[in-house]
Amino acid sequence: MSTTVTQTAQQQRLELARTRNIGIIAHIDAGKTTTTERILFYTGRVHRPGETHEGSATMDWMEQERERGITITSAATTCFWRDHRINIIDTPGHVDFTVEVERSLRVLDGGVVVFDAVAGVEPQSETVWRQADKYHVPRICFVNKMDRTGANFPRTVEMIKDRLKAKPAVVQLPIGSEADFVGLIDLLTLQAYIYRDDLGQQIDVVDVPADMQEEVERARQELIEQIAETNEELTLRYLEGEELSVEELRAALRAATISGELVPVLCGSALKNKGVQRMLDAIVDYLPSPADIPPVRGTNPKTGEEEERTVGEDQPLAALAFKIVADPHVGRLAYVRVYSGQLQAGTYVYNSTKGTRERVGRLLRMHANHREEVPEISAGDICAVIGLKETFTGDTLCDPAHPILLEAIQFPEPVIAVAVEPKTRADQDKMGIALARLAEEDPTFQVYTDPDSGQTIIRGMGELHLEVIIDRMLREFRVSANIGKPQVAYKETIAKPVRVEGRFVRQTGGRGQYGHVWLELEPLPRGEGFVFEDRIVGGVVPKEYIPAVE
Ligand code: GDP
Repeated sequence: MSTTVTQTAQQQRLELARTRNIGIIAHIDAGKTTTTERILFYTGRVHRPGETHEGSATMDWMEQERERGITITSAATTCFWRDHRINIIDTPGHVDFTVEVERSLRVLDGGVVVFDAVAGVEPQSETVWRQADKYHVPRICFVNKMDRTGANFPRTVEMIKDRLKAKPAVVQLPIGSEADFVGLIDLLTLQAYIYRDDLGQQIDVVDVPADMQEEVERARQELIEQIAETNEELTLRYLEGEELSVEELRAALRAATISGELVPVLCGSALKNKGVQRMLDAIVDYLPSPADIPPVRGTNPKTGEEEERTVGEDQPLAALAFKIVADPHVGRLAYVRVYSGQLQAGTYVYNSTKGTRERVGRLLRMHANHREEVPEISAGDICAVIGLKETFTGDTLCDPAHPILLEAIQFPEPVIAVAVEPKTRADQDKMGIALARLAEEDPTFQVYTDPDSGQTIIRGMGELHLEVIIDRMLREFRVSANIGKPQVAYKETIAKPVRVEGRFVRQTGGRGQYGHVWLELEPLPRGEGFVFEDRIVGGVVPKEYIPAVE
């Protein structure tokens, strides 16, 4: 089945330069889903020039996926804009999922951070921003919801400066605001885009409106100064009063965005279809291609020596699995980012994290409304792999002859727990399967049976995290279950109770969600010794209050 396509080195370089691996990063409710949907809508209308579907199998669009929304099922969706391939890597929006955000940030090369123009920079936006800083992810900002009452573009820009300590480069100005938000001005080209309807179908490209000329001139000067400052040659020419061309300004802003010096800021309303196409332009213009980012680092598992892998030619395969999805139709899917070399269907790869050989079955590229089977995926690209049985999130896949272990993704321990009780026997079996699958997808989700109470306990990063998992269990796997607090049932014989103020107490050793619980013990005479029965006398007792147990 696998036909090997040999590309010329030049073709490969061109493909790389025309690839963007990006995430839409946002606080919950800022409009990430709407923005992503609009991106898929607008990109779905254009066909990548020169693309042929020969030899690639297209799978059916699934109703279920449509219902659930692409952002849940597809960890990476491919679309095309201006002859560029854009892989959109899903990033969750809630703070409970910050680990998930971190793992997405690890494999993407750039991000579009969506803000609500009314709320501006929210606390969770700060969390995500810091995470993106940690992974040096170049960003552009999209100030969304410009149509809402209370929308304030300049204030949001100020908040980006003050709260996020970023240097915003305002590349667009909104025309009007709230109900009067009708379009935007591109400060580099000085073109005004006026949206004549809410569907984004009729867009007029006109000159800057007369009443905005002064404001636009000021903002443009500020932008040019900011850009020129990042580049010595441009600074000199700017100071000499030379006119800098739109192309050179764009190129310099691209370089400054990739280095993290500047963050281009755009505006729009995803809901009202305003500004989305211009945002896609900005993704192509300012966010890095896989060739623009530093080489990936890892260690040789044999020698322990540090190694780097690049997207260049003749490099052996190095890839990172970043998400496992239990797909109801095709089974287990492992999403991988290829950093160097090529991943080919039907070949064997070495999982250097597990020390095992695995066979790559089929490779899928996920589009918004179909799945495309491809024979190979090159460095810098992302795909879903069918057939990897033992590969988990964070595992490195590499060429068996040239092993490398990429830096692992760190997952913290889950912090909250709930008990799930199946309603019937049949539910019990289904629940076992469902929870095992869901735990396989998500390294921060754990399932275990409490040995004392016999309850099934699930643990996760926060309430919403567990809510989403429970919701999927109920809906996707059709399990009926009751959800409740875990019981604390400690029945074991106490080895070393202590006496505190006349009472016997002991600490539980921090199990379940309670951490340390202070138990009062009733001594019951039985035969020659004592058997203690536990009775909880308090909730969570801070560690420092717990008497030292001898
Ligand atoms: P997410 O939680 O970040 O994925 O946000 P959603 O895309 O689900 O949007 C949250 C809410 O904001 C929904 O009710 C959207 O209809 C609404 N919304 C999204 N974009 C806009 C916008 O540009 N303008 C207005 N007024 N509402 C928007």
